[in-house]
Amino acid sequence: MQEFKTESKRILDLMIHSIYTNKEIFLRELISNASDAIDKLHFRSLTDAAAAREFAIDLEINKDARTISIHDNGIGMTRQELENNLGTIAASGTLQFKTENKLDEEMIGQFGVGFYSAFMVADHVTVYSKAYGTDVAHIWSSNGADGYEIIEAEGGDKADCGTTITLHLKADDEDYAYGDLLSEYKLRGLVEKYSDYIRYPIRMEVTKYEKETETKAVETLNSMVPLWARPKNKVKKKEYEEFYQQKFNDYRAPAYIIKADIEGAVNYRTLLFIPEKAPYNYYSKDYEKGLKLYSAGVLIMDKCSEILPEYLGFIKGVVDSPDLSLNISREMLQQDRQLKAIAASLEKKILAELKKYCKSDRKGYEKMFTEFAPSIKFGAYDKFGEKKDLLKDLLLFYSSTENAPTLLSEYVGRMKEGQEFIYYACGESVKKIDKLPQTEAVKEKGYEILYFSDSIDEFVAKTLLEYDGKKFKSVSDKDSIAETEEEKAASEKTREQYKALTEAVKASLKDKVADVRLSNKMKSHAVCLSAEGEISFEMERVFAAMKNGADVRAKRVLELNPEHALFQKLAAAKDTDKFDKLCGVLLDEALLMEGFTPEDPAGFADAINTLLAE
Ligand code: ADP
Repeated sequence: MQEFKTESKRILDLMIHSIYTNKEIFLRELISNASDAIDKLHFRSLTDAAAAREFAIDLEINKDARTISIHDNGIGMTRQELENNLGTIAASGTLQFKTENKLDEEMIGQFGVGFYSAFMVADHVTVYSKAYGTDVAHIWSSNGADGYEIIEAEGGDKADCGTTITLHLKADDEDYAYGDLLSEYKLRGLVEKYSDYIRYPIRMEVTKYEKETETKAVETLNSMVPLWARPKNKVKKKEYEEFYQQKFNDYRAPAYIIKADIEGAVNYRTLLFIPEKAPYNYYSKDYEKGLKLYSAGVLIMDKCSEILPEYLGFIKGVVDSPDLSLNISREMLQQDRQLKAIAASLEKKILAELKKYCKSDRKGYEKMFTEFAPSIKFGAYDKFGEKKDLLKDLLLFYSSTENAPTLLSEYVGRMKEGQEFIYYACGESVKKIDKLPQTEAVKEKGYEILYFSDSIDEFVAKTLLEYDGKKFKSVSDKDSIAETEEEKAASEKTREQYKALTEAVKASLKDKVADVRLSNKMKSHAVCLSAEGEISFEMERVFAAMKNGADVRAKRVLELNPEHALFQKLAAAKDTDKFDKLCGVLLDEALLMEGFTPEDPAGFADAINTLLAE
């Protein structure tokens, strides 16, 4: 007797003691495994004629023995495979459980835990299996909690292979009449409900009554039309959702479903799903993107990554095309012209669908966009903006006037007369950006500002350059607000008047700043910090966050508001002992508002205290 791995034990325990009402999903899970096993042998048969056979899944009820068996003539399992696959729960599932840390009944009902669901209805399970091309068979058996046993069995004909799973049903109790599952009618109903789209025949011997005589005949219970090949109006949303949850191991329903049949230069059917949540490892190197690739209904690849652009890697689903050659290898696929054509068409289709999503369900789209924003924005920025025109109408940024995410087209539509630019301000969070002194003058003009709180946002703006002929402009830019001739003359006069003062401030701050200047960006604030040149503070932070990033620093410019009361104090303090202290405090203030820490926090506090105590 072998013990189950710890994680499997927990799942098993839940299965055995499950009070979950939807116990009937066990059949769907076992049939799905059978179908996968046949897929594997079917694929093999494309290059190995001996593997070809009439593929089918057979169900058998034995009322006397109180058993149900599910037989498939798929690839089968060796002893080692029985051990690995049924002794421990699928690795992907385990990880998901761990990160979610939310193992509950409901979840199990929705998120197929596959084979183990057999223990929801059975107290003893045997798996007879013979791997393709071998001559011994093995029987794995278990009554759940105690562990499992594997023994060798009669192999039979060498050409035979496949798996038979036999479930010895639990005794009926007050919660559930397990015996009801022994009815042909019940099982047929479950196949029709959950497994109709399985593309191999699911057969069962059924009893017919004609003129009071009982006859038995084997019937195929499913329609065998894959879900993606069925007309959209004939499939319930729930069916798509269940298909997604089961095939892609997600216990949540998908956020959005795309179904398309494309005919023309390229031909394919596709059924795609946008998950509600990004997989826990989506933004890590471990994540493997890809769609299931079928050629006229035959699964040829479980995760074809070439068919999805990097930035849409979160999309799951199926592509089925008669144009793809059946016996294609992974290496060949990368070169395949048909596949490239399908990928290009698919990308366009997905983007068109995303636009539709945004129009038809704005709230849903916003949620989805938030979840995958780094990925989609990366798409707009990557490869020097090769995809920017395709993506610019999908991007959402937070708007200062709408207090909600907005599209660039909406922003441009709201631009005020005389407004030249699409304004943006960068910072750590919407809340913090909203308080930045640099935003004051632009806001006073009544102009809307896009708040860039993702570090990639500014890179995206710099890649897009403009939208609808309107250039992006940071509120921190020197010339963010255009001045009239009159205003220019007045500013010039003030600058001249305080030239000596600004120079003195600069001299006091030494190499801590690249420049000091007067500014018209602020209203209530006395100072702000801006970056001069190509490197912004956000970029500096991005580089700093990179492991081997270059030490790139933005050029710091201290801007002073000549209209502020403190400015006059500064002017009055010139040439006194207090002057350096004041300059230092003002710079530290400006740094703080930009989200930086003063170089010498204790010194900053001391300086403030001294000034306050006066
Ligand atoms: P999943 O199907 O999500 O991988 P399961 O627990 O249902 O998880 O199955 C574990 C593994 O056992 C499968 O991945 C497959 O390799 C193997 N398996 C299960 N049922 C069969 C079967 N009928 N024929 C061949 N292999 C099977």
